[in-house]
Amino acid sequence: MERSQPSGIDILVVGAGIGGLCAAIELDAKGTMCESLRQKMRQFEKWPGVAERYDENCYKPALSIYTHAVPTSVSRAKLIKLLYDIAVSLGITFSFGQRVVKYFDDVDGSAAGVFTASGARHKAELVVAADGVGSKSSKLILGNDSRPKSSGFAVYRVAFPTAIAHRDKEVSNNFPAPTDGSDDSRIYLGPNTHAITIVFQEITTWLLTHGLIKQTPENTTVDWKLMWRDPKPASETPHTFLPTSANGATQAMEDGISLASCLELAGKDNIPLALRVHNHFLFQCVSCCQRAGFKNREQWHHVDLNEARKHPERLAEMTCQWITRHDPEVYAYQNWTKCVGHLLYGAEFVNTNIPTGYTYKPWTIDELLNAADEGVSVDDEGEWS
Ligand SMILES: Cc1cc2nc3c(=O)[nH]c(=O)nc-3n(C[C@H](O)[C@H](O)[C@H](O)COP(=O)(O)OP(=O)(O)OC[C@H]3O[C@@H](n4cnc5c(N)ncnc54)[C@H](O)[C@@H]3O)c2cc1C
Repeated sequence: MERSQPSGIDILVVGAGIGGLCAAIELDAKGTMCESLRQKMRQFEKWPGVAERYDENCYKPALSIYTHAVPTSVSRAKLIKLLYDIAVSLGITFSFGQRVVKYFDDVDGSAAGVFTASGARHKAELVVAADGVGSKSSKLILGNDSRPKSSGFAVYRVAFPTAIAHRDKEVSNNFPAPTDGSDDSRIYLGPNTHAITIVFQEITTWLLTHGLIKQTPENTTVDWKLMWRDPKPASETPHTFLPTSANGATQAMEDGISLASCLELAGKDNIPLALRVHNHFLFQCVSCCQRAGFKNREQWHHVDLNEARKHPERLAEMTCQWITRHDPEVYAYQNWTKCVGHLLYGAEFVNTNIPTGYTYKPWTIDELLNAADEGVSVDDEGEWS
């Protein structure tokens, strides 16, 4: 992999999920020193040999909304393994079993760091808190305002060997594992609910459905309460997405890539500016992705079946092309100067990484939930598909 000149910035990444790993790989490629603590497809093409391995790991849905659009569907466990292998091959060092219990920021802003459960203190010039939705960084950054809110829904979720599912004749007849190398992926829509099944050769996974439940091994199903947070500036809180945004992992990757690009452009002496620009690039975009998740859920849960039969492709519009076609690295390179001008000197700058034709307006979860309760549809101008 091509590496930029070393930037000399010493960075600590907490968390080795999709976001932390992508951040570490891109930061390394852009010449920063990166250490990772742990307990987008276009980018992959730039990382030698990775696109091929990603393709091998992708589901190949025969029947799926993804068939209609650009995004691919991949096991997150396999994606994390793939990213981890790349990071190791680049020489990025990992310290496992280190549970971060507290983040700190030196008063003079010269260094930040973390304390782990064992009492160890780690310092760096920049700390990337990629420790997921329960990030311990929220307390330092948001104070008490970090509690997530209920979305009003929960989801049952499981993944288990297809061989177990297929011990039942009815299940194997109704949910066969395709033998042509594709995967059987289905979405069922009903009033105020939806269910998804994916059956591939090794693993079967479902979200809230019926016949498969009987065959599911005891104590393997997770009941996820779907919580999320009001939109907040990107660098100041972990992004919470509803599953119907189908976008959490993508945004985790984009965060890492955008951050690395901004740091590369800013240089070692301008780390705070890099973070401000990164934040400005992502805030409205992430907020629109979160809103899209709500809009998709409402669309799926109140589907007009007659209309859906006439225009099934409209149900696939959740895969928002304004997101899937977005390249955060190119965006950072193209917009850096304008955004710096805006932040430092008040020059005009309007983000273009949101739905075309939509003018960003702040919103809250409560507003959306109230609209849903009152049966009012949330219609926005612009091209959201
Ligand atoms: C059931 C489910 C279904 C989903 N489906 C989709 C989907 O279809 N499409 C999609 O795009 N997204 C989906 N998502 C969301 C997606 O998985 C997440 O948005 C994405 O994994 C976030 O990546 P991350 O790196 O920010 O956090 P995580 O993947 O949560 O990684 C956090 C990392 O930090 C580590 N860590 C946590 N706490 C600490 C600590 N205190 N100290 C040190 N390390 C710590 C963890 O061990 C982990 O390695 C789904 C999520 C869930 C739970």
